Amino acid sequence: MPTLPTACPLDCPDACSLSATVEDGRLVRLDGDHRNPLTAGFICAKVREIGGHVQGAERLRHPAIRVGAKGEGRFATVSWDEALDQVAARLREAVDQHGGESILPVCYGGSNGLLTQDATDARLFHRLGASRLAKTLCAAPSGRAYEGLYGRMPGVALPAYRHARLIVLWGVNPSATGIHSIPVIKRARSAGATLVVVDPRRTPLAQQADLHLAPRPGTDLCLALALIEHLFATGRADREFLSEHATGVEALRERASAWSLPRAAAEAGVPQPDLERFAALYSSTRPAVIRCGWGVERNRNGGSAVAAILALPAVAGCFGVPGGGFTMSNSRTIRLDGDAAAAAPAPSTREINLNRVGRALTEADPPIHVVLSYNCNPLSTLPDQERVRRGLLREDLFTVVFDQVMTDTARHADVLLPATTFLEHDDLTRGYGAMVVQRVRPVLPTEGEARPNWMVFEALCDRLGLSEPGDPRGPDAMVEAILGATEDARSIADAVRTEGVAQPPGGSEPVQMRDVWPRHADRRIHLCPEALDAEAPAGLYGYQPDPGGPSHPLALISPATRHTISSTFGQRLRQPAELVMHPQDASVRGIASGDEVAAFNELGRVECRARVSDEVRPGVVVLPKGLWSRHTSNGATANAVAPDALTDLGGGATFNDARVQVVRAT
Ligand code: SF4
Repeated sequence: MPTLPTACPLDCPDACSLSATVEDGRLVRLDGDHRNPLTAGFICAKVREIGGHVQGAERLRHPAIRVGAKGEGRFATVSWDEALDQVAARLREAVDQHGGESILPVCYGGSNGLLTQDATDARLFHRLGASRLAKTLCAAPSGRAYEGLYGRMPGVALPAYRHARLIVLWGVNPSATGIHSIPVIKRARSAGATLVVVDPRRTPLAQQADLHLAPRPGTDLCLALALIEHLFATGRADREFLSEHATGVEALRERASAWSLPRAAAEAGVPQPDLERFAALYSSTRPAVIRCGWGVERNRNGGSAVAAILALPAVAGCFGVPGGGFTMSNSRTIRLDGDAAAAAPAPSTREINLNRVGRALTEADPPIHVVLSYNCNPLSTLPDQERVRRGLLREDLFTVVFDQVMTDTARHADVLLPATTFLEHDDLTRGYGAMVVQRVRPVLPTEGEARPNWMVFEALCDRLGLSEPGDPRGPDAMVEAILGATEDARSIADAVRTEGVAQPPGGSEPVQMRDVWPRHADRRIHLCPEALDAEAPAGLYGYQPDPGGPSHPLALISPATRHTISSTFGQRLRQPAELVMHPQDASVRGIASGDEVAAFNELGRVECRARVSDEVRPGVVVLPKGLWSRHTSNGATANAVAPDALTDLGGGATFNDARVQVVRAT
């Protein structure tokens, strides 16, 4: 059977190149191919089984309008013209009566495709003068720290980990969120590499690691600063490298000096000998690479913690050799200018932080009157879930949801618009770990009347008189606009056009501080940049203590699982949720596996089954992210108890600062 090439644009670092086998319009098989070498011919189970999502019973296939009460999820099918006319009329009315800022687009990483986000959607909302959305749910603190220190210098490519003799996985669980690094790590270990995992849970790789540290959430900063202090105190800091290639060295040293190994071990709740062993390994093993994941940033100290972790390879002098340095999830090599597809500069309207959409829907002044939600399931994914729910239930709020399946948010829509999946439309995608750019091509006929984002937002621009001559229209024109505006344009554009995939111009495995340099004017590493220092409430590298207390002593964290990508594919998850807690915490509460429990705080309450296991450290309970209301007994998820407080840098989410009490539910 012939196969069709395409690529995966989902919110995952691996950016797989795909090969689809299709017969009579049905997906027979989807697997990885080798055009992106990292894919190596295999993909994750969730996308391999995507046929059940694309062609499943819960797919939205026709536009519809609400006929029941808000949140009830009863709709009547209408034509696209009727639906779009109604949406356009409500947008126009909102602008005329309340001003453009009364409109709020709510979108996030349901697709990382460059034609599916920040393209024609941005064109519409920018020209309407809508409120702007700060998309800080994930990566904002990491991005701020990374950019501040290194100006987005490309990271160590995952395949280059084969050269490393010490691999540190810090706050990342590749078994769930980046499976293609696992064979590379395993090969490196077979060749003698040591693996250290820092994670409050015993993840699959932590189980196999030579050393596993399980810190209390929010204390990674203490550990990283203690390692830095140790390097300086023992004469292992690479002073020669630092004087030639870094600024802010003494400021960093002075801030780290407060954190001895014993103090950091006590604060983080890890055995001191384990931290000493980590320090000895990182001081003496070369090449050493740190893979810093998103788990580090999701707390009040997240930005400073990422900065301190990224400072480590500079202090220790790990750069300049293959397999030495660091990788962030977003350390891209190829820069693309996605704004060229929008062709509409952002207005200076008010900015609303995505983490505080619940607050905005219930308290913003002037109020939000129209929400258009796409690439996103805010009721499942945003913190302070009960406030988001109250906002979506407002009778005076007109809500449009443009999605592929009937999500929890979609049930609150006034108008539902059916969206195509990436197997049904054109797109352009770049990996944020894999460092390639690829064309996404439709390989399946469209289900029902579903439409791609570019088409719907273009149609709304036309209806509202907002389209302009010269706008790139349609996928090919938008791809050309993006490639034409790209810094590395010629080689990338040619390769994307001819091969459908482009590698970075400087090679796919650049060595940090040899082939690639900090993207600052002085090409140096800024270890204590003034802007970050001014932004962080306690100053850069300033530690803010745990927000818990006697009434809510347990840290609830909500890490990704291998079943969903955030909440995408949540409808395919049939098992009820389990709250995982350590035997010590369960025993003092009289809780056993299988008991119905409630985790609660002043924000909300989530009820589900308990599972008692020592895979999580004492004092921490785990309820996965990506759950929908159907997965718990009371329809709430971990986000019902997650605060909408922001990280020290970048205005990011502090999901892992949720502090709860857990009791047996009666
Ligand atoms: S989600 Fe990640 S691992 Fe799965 S197919 Fe897409 S890029 Fe590959």
